[in-house]
Amino acid sequence: MRSRFNQLLRACQDLCFPPACLACGVRLPDSAGPLFCAACATDVRLVHEPLCRCCGRAFPWGAGGSHTCGPCLKKPWHFTEARAVLHYSDPVAQAVQAFKYRGSTTGLATFRLLKERLSHLDGLADLDLIVPVPLHVHKLRQRGFNQALVLARALFPGHRQRIAPSLLARTRQTISQTGLSGHERRRNLKNAFRVVFPAQVEGKRLLLVDDIFTTGSTANECASTLRRAGAQEVRVLTLARVSLE
Ligand SMILES: [Zn+2]
Ligand SMILES: [Zn+2]
Repeated sequence: MRSRFNQLLRACQDLCFPPACLACGVRLPDSAGPLFCAACATDVRLVHEPLCRCCGRAFPWGAGGSHTCGPCLKKPWHFTEARAVLHYSDPVAQAVQAFKYRGSTTGLATFRLLKERLSHLDGLADLDLIVPVPLHVHKLRQRGFNQALVLARALFPGHRQRIAPSLLARTRQTISQTGLSGHERRRNLKNAFRVVFPAQVEGKRLLLVDDIFTTGSTANECASTLRRAGAQEVRVLTLARVSLE
C-alpha cells in the first residue's frame, strides 16, 4: 500500500518537476533510478573492486584481487582505507560540480542510489561517527553550505544522529588545492584542522566524508588530526575519486 502511494507521489512530482539528466539536461521519463540518460549512463563509472585496500585506487581487471598498492606500502596514510563511489570524469564530474558549486541538490538521490550498488561500502555505516570534512567559516558563509555535510546526510539517510558536523573544524583558511602539486597540497593543509571535542573522538572509529578524493592530502590531514586526538581508526568515503592513471 505504502509503495503504491510512493509511486503515485513520485508520478505527481515527475509531472510537476520533469526529471532531467544531471549531465546533459535531456528530459527523462521518470525519476525512479539514477538521473542519467542512457547515453550519459554509459560513461558513469562506479569504483568497483579490485582496488587498493588502503587508498582505494581501482586496479584493472586481471591485476588480481584487492591488495595494497606499491605507493601505500611505501608511504602509509593516517587513514586505514579510503573508498569512493564514482570515478571523477564526465558525466559524473558535471553532476558533482552542479552540486558543489551551484548548490543543486537534484543529484543527491542519484549519488545515494549509485553508492547502494557497491556492496563493499555497506560496512562503512557501522562506524561510531560520520565526520564531514569541514569548510573554513569564511568559505562556509560564502558558499552557504558544506557540501561534505550535505553528502553525508544524503549517503547515510538512516544514520543522521551519528553525523558529527562540528567535531572537526578548519581553523586556517587554505588556498584552493586546484592546480597544486602533492607536496604543495600537503604544505597548504598543514595544521589546518582542529578537533573541537576531543572527548568525543577518543577511542572511536570514524568515517570521514568528502566530495572528491584527488591526491588524498585533505583526507590524510584530517585523519592525522583525528588520530592525534585519540581516534582508534579513521576511514574515508568520498563521492568521487580522481583516477591517477
Ligand atoms: Zn545525459
Ligand atoms: Zn594504495
